[in-house]
Amino acid sequence: MKIRLDPLRGMRDLVAPESEELYYLKKKFSEVATRYGYEPIILPTLELFDLFSIKSGPEIKNSMYVFSDKRGRQVCLRPEFTAGVARAYLRLMRDKPKPIKLYYIGQAFRYEEPQAGRYREFFQAGVEYLGDPSINADIELLLLIRDYYKMVGLDNYKVKIGNIGIYRHLFSVWGIPEETQDLIIHYLDKKEVEKALSLVREYSASGQTLIEELMSISSSEPEEVKEQVSRLRLDSKSLEELERTIKILELSKKLGVGNSYVDLGFARGLAYYTGFIFEVTVPDVTFSIGGGGRYDKLISLYGGEDLPATGFALGLDRMLLVLDNRGWQLPEKKVKVVLIALVNYTVEVDQVATAFRNAGCVVDVRVVTKKKVGEVLGDAVERGYEYAVFLGEKEIREGTLTIKNLREKAQKTVKTDNLEEVLYELLRESK
Ligand code: AMP
Repeated sequence: MKIRLDPLRGMRDLVAPESEELYYLKKKFSEVATRYGYEPIILPTLELFDLFSIKSGPEIKNSMYVFSDKRGRQVCLRPEFTAGVARAYLRLMRDKPKPIKLYYIGQAFRYEEPQAGRYREFFQAGVEYLGDPSINADIELLLLIRDYYKMVGLDNYKVKIGNIGIYRHLFSVWGIPEETQDLIIHYLDKKEVEKALSLVREYSASGQTLIEELMSISSSEPEEVKEQVSRLRLDSKSLEELERTIKILELSKKLGVGNSYVDLGFARGLAYYTGFIFEVTVPDVTFSIGGGGRYDKLISLYGGEDLPATGFALGLDRMLLVLDNRGWQLPEKKVKVVLIALVNYTVEVDQVATAFRNAGCVVDVRVVTKKKVGEVLGDAVERGYEYAVFLGEKEIREGTLTIKNLREKAQKTVKTDNLEEVLYELLRESK
């Protein structure tokens, strides 16, 4: 049988260097999230469709991988993580003291039209901060992103700050049912503003103007936002949400979070957001590389208590695309050593390899005959190995090693009884 070798459309086989780079981005995310006091959560890839169908929003609902399992249950591949975290919280964490801070890294699936930076299987790294209604939690999300990008070397990004709570509040005042609200927000997210406004008009004749005015509020200067807001006639709840938004802008500027700005003209595809929302963009690409916001009603929607929550997800594939286009290189380059063993795998070979590995080197052991040495050396040079270490009968007998610098072609024989010192020198010289 002839097997089709290409992966399915929108799915990818990732090999080095991309696979290494992606692992690096994952590792660094877990490092920074841990430093901020978040604990990892690992969730199933497959969930019941109902979990997402309640509140994912039409955009994501239409792009889910849904199918029936052998028992006829409607299941789906997760399109995102927040719903799964909410489910796991309700099952396992309700009695835990709040706040609860969780992070995740993993694949999500969306049946969208693939293009550069948009895949059907992609990696998200994100956090959920459960149980704190204050803007301190929202700000912490932005700080974590700031530190993560700094750690991996991604600069020149912008954080667009919005607020969906104002719209939801006004829609409720005008008697717009929640499902219609979700649809209006979906249209706003898709930039189909006229469709959104015509739905608003069905409930409030004057509402359209106010929505348009609110949507045009945009500035990176808190004072300017305040000035634009002061021209509108708003009720106290809307003003309160706007004040929060301005405060978030003030703080993120003060705390050095990218180039932050307020833009009340955007919405987000996921329908569970209730207040603060944000997106991270870079000038290199048209799509966002991350986003998130507050979802204070999701836990109660799933049958739990009122639990305020906020979180974000970063798209690791998109980050990598941007970094690679900017000529990024993996910062943590390890010294790569090929250990050419001219004897069968022995305790001595393992001891030497272990010593090099413990010192932080990458060690590839090749057990070969003398005849093959030239071939292995050529291959090692091609793969970017810096050193070849030879270990044969003679070296084992004499307690020595021969180390060849593959770049400078220099070669020396050293004693294995003070390998620590030899390794120290070697690592210093390779820097
Ligand atoms: P969302 O869950 O829609 O808020 O998306 C969060 C982040 O996930 C986005 O900012 C992207 O970086 C990333 N993302 C979403 N959809 C895709 C996709 N189809 N391919 C690659 N990355 C994606």
